[in-house]
Amino acid sequence: MASSTMSARCPRCAAHLVEIHLDQAGRAMVMRSCSTCDSRWWRRDGEDVAFSSILDTVSSTKKVAAARS
Ligand SMILES: [Zn+2]
Repeated sequence: MASSTMSARCPRCAAHLVEIHLDQAGRAMVMRSCSTCDSRWWRRDGEDVAFSSILDTVSSTKKVAAARS
């Protein structure tokens, strides 16, 4: 078993992606970034997510609170 992580390849330029693992509010977040073409992807709990949807999740509580008033 190799100890090093086999990183994924960029779908745009086929360069190796850098993976950064985070733990955000108990959820496993993985950020994959390509330094060659400056692309970035996020995965949450093993599912691909757009970074904008993460921001929507964060700001949704404010929207709900505003809609009730
Ligand atoms: Zn790339």
